[in-house]
Amino acid sequence: MEALDVATVSRAQLVDITAAVAALVGRLALRSGAVHVFVPHTTAGVTINENADPSVKSDLLMALEALIPPGLAFTHSEGNSDAHLRASLIGSSVTVPVRDGILQLGTWQGIYFAEFDGPRRRRVYVTALPGAAG
Ligand code: ZN
Repeated sequence: MEALDVATVSRAQLVDITAAVAALVGRLALRSGAVHVFVPHTTAGVTINENADPSVKSDLLMALEALIPPGLAFTHSEGNSDAHLRASLIGSSVTVPVRDGILQLGTWQGIYFAEFDGPRRRRVYVTALPGAAG
């Protein structure tokens, strides 16, 4: 397993970590199988979506804010319930197939760290899942 450090600069932000994950696939010497990307935080997550048009990122953040408005009658004393709920909606892990040492993402796909309670210093764990799928 390898760890990736992500420093976010906004309360809500999508950070493209595709290149960093691809580099770790090389460092893990993973040729064939899959890579598991896990976020060990309760107010952040990880997702795969379009990496071509940046408006997709801003639309996703805007829609999550509309789905879970900060002003709901939350009871969690930290005051960041909206961030916890957004993190659960997005999820805390993704798994991407690897073939010939290359992430098998679609043409327009990127892997995004999803911050919902930043800015903070965050971690991402990347684990090789060797297999014969490649
Ligand atoms: Zn909290």
